[in-house]
Amino acid sequence: MKESTDKVLKSTCSYCGTGCGVEVSVDKRGRLNLTGDASHPVNKGMLCSKGRNLHYTVSDHSDRLLYPQMRWSKSHPMQRTDWDTAIGRAAAVFKSLITKYGPDSVGFYVSGQCLTEEYYLVNKLTKGFIGTNNIDTNSRLCMSSAVAAYTQSLGEDSVPISYEDIELADCFLIAGANPAWCHPILFRRLEQHKEQHPDIKVIVIDPRVTDSCSLADLHLQLRPGTDTILLHAIGRCLIENGDIDLEFVQNHTDGYEDYKQKVLSTSLEEAAHICDVPLEQIKQAASYIGNATGFITMWAMGLNQSTEGLSKNLALINLNLVTGQLGKPGSGPFSLTGQPNAMGGREVGGMATLLASHRNLLNPEHRKEVAAYWGVDHISEKPGKTATQMFEALRSGEMKAIWIICTNPVVSMPDARLVDEALKNARFVVVQDISTQSDTLQYADLVLPAAGWLEKEGTMTNSDRRISHLNKVVSPPGEALADSEILIRFARQMGYHGFDYQNQAEVYAEHCSMTRGTKIDISGLSYERLKKEGSFQWPVPDSVHPGTPRLFTDSQFYTASGKAQIKSDTPTNLTEEPTPDYPLILTTGRIRDQWHTMTRTGKVNKLRQHIDKPFLEIHPHDAAERGIKEGMAVEIENSRGSVQVVAKLTDTIKKGVVFLPMHWGKTLQNDLTRANNLTSSVFDPTSKQPGFKFSAVEVKPHKKP
Ligand code: SF4
Repeated sequence: MKESTDKVLKSTCSYCGTGCGVEVSVDKRGRLNLTGDASHPVNKGMLCSKGRNLHYTVSDHSDRLLYPQMRWSKSHPMQRTDWDTAIGRAAAVFKSLITKYGPDSVGFYVSGQCLTEEYYLVNKLTKGFIGTNNIDTNSRLCMSSAVAAYTQSLGEDSVPISYEDIELADCFLIAGANPAWCHPILFRRLEQHKEQHPDIKVIVIDPRVTDSCSLADLHLQLRPGTDTILLHAIGRCLIENGDIDLEFVQNHTDGYEDYKQKVLSTSLEEAAHICDVPLEQIKQAASYIGNATGFITMWAMGLNQSTEGLSKNLALINLNLVTGQLGKPGSGPFSLTGQPNAMGGREVGGMATLLASHRNLLNPEHRKEVAAYWGVDHISEKPGKTATQMFEALRSGEMKAIWIICTNPVVSMPDARLVDEALKNARFVVVQDISTQSDTLQYADLVLPAAGWLEKEGTMTNSDRRISHLNKVVSPPGEALADSEILIRFARQMGYHGFDYQNQAEVYAEHCSMTRGTKIDISGLSYERLKKEGSFQWPVPDSVHPGTPRLFTDSQFYTASGKAQIKSDTPTNLTEEPTPDYPLILTTGRIRDQWHTMTRTGKVNKLRQHIDKPFLEIHPHDAAERGIKEGMAVEIENSRGSVQVVAKLTDTIKKGVVFLPMHWGKTLQNDLTRANNLTSSVFDPTSKQPGFKFSAVEVKPHKKP
């Protein structure tokens, strides 16, 4: 139901981590109107195709889950039920499993699209009251390598820069990211900056010629997986050219000598050969960086989603550290967050390895602080299972139950075959979602209908630490409830104290007060301030503090020594290599107008017009070797599974590499369009982020039976 309102209410786009502000109203006929918020510092009124069409996903209720559904056993059919019965059943099953097998037998798998208040509640419920740290998020698949790298090099998970630095920089290195499609408004800001200042330099590192290359002065089309070697080779050139900021390095960093030794140990010729990039391009990139007055590195999944994700992230951040390009206007490392509230989730400790307010789960004092705050005896010291570990534990029987909120792991997790087996084997699966289009519903024992964007109130934090308040504009359809309301009802049914919140503002206030004295202190940022004054960048430690656009302006880092750490360890290579049977390298990713598993964007006609079918990008040379022609049905296969789509021949992809979009699954096409049939669940040993960007495959024409 939509209430007509004369008021224009503010919200934030719920797709990518750019965090564009929108204004929404409901007209007299009940139609939603949406425009970009011209006063918002992120987008200044601009919206990309996904953002512009966001309200259609709210207006159309044809695919919404409208009431709770349940089955009493795996052999019973799913039936409609009421909320009291549904929550009572969930609590009874969880209590029984916890009593019999212990708290680590259950877990929650949530989403970077959850609001901060929801993330806070599920974290408190799991770690504080159930007594397990088995709570992880699909942000694990997105940002955890960047989190690990920031923590190791800067001392905390802290994005140092602000979007306004884009307009102040004169050199950009975009590595493993396609912001033109995946963060379009940030890319538009960069585009406008280059239109006004044609001399600024943009370097792109990517095995594909993406739309982001339209701005590139230099495109290094590397062999997938060789990013660390390439970034170290650029570091070597900086050393040889005398472009190291020795004053900054000496006074504000540790580890430079080891780094120097490391990068000098591989010749430029060897690096160019391994990366399959012309030597002159490596030198040119270093020369652009060395001559910059403001240098920003930008990256996303191309570096993060790797079994060497941490090392790739560190190698990139090191380029900022050795050139002293950090903590000053127009400079710094800048990870492009995939999801709208991945950062908010980390602020409340919403991952298996974190605690609230960036506290450390492995630190006994931090565990005591959090336990005291929540009024519980203790927090378990045992790190919880991360995303892929949780599904593996369900598969092996070590875990018995999982509660999945606002995410569709059957399509989005790597090695989908294992996820199918895990959910089939689980004793109890709760799916809390808005859409009937989630493939994960097929495994649910209990389905809980949730409110979606504009149907609930809360906050989110975008890629540059900016916290925004999202108004409730319309009521959810049917009997759907806000995720926080569902979690609170469950916690109360479990008999847990400390969940007597009257509204979202109280949940938010509790989270804010826990941040007091930490590096992400937002104790000065109330709901009232957010509603009245707009968005703020953390920290905001008192009620008149204006927020913090840029971190480390005093070159004091959050490490024990106060110095940034230049790390250059060589990781164990866990990536599978191409073989004679599977000689091609598969990389997966997004297309411009779709989002994740298309449960929302898939129902908007305008967005489907861009690309409406799954496809395989393959170089004409590789296609010719296999007798494949444009538009032909092909089968991509490896030891984990296969995918059948049509071939798209293009010389924008490197020879020997093929690309599949990650969006499609059974509900929208069939199981054989699911890219994750082919990916591996092997992950980076530190960040635990899986390597979606590198799988060995073979492609052949598909002969229909
Ligand atoms: Fe939404 Fe991202 Fe597009 Fe902005 S750039 S409108 S946040 S999808």
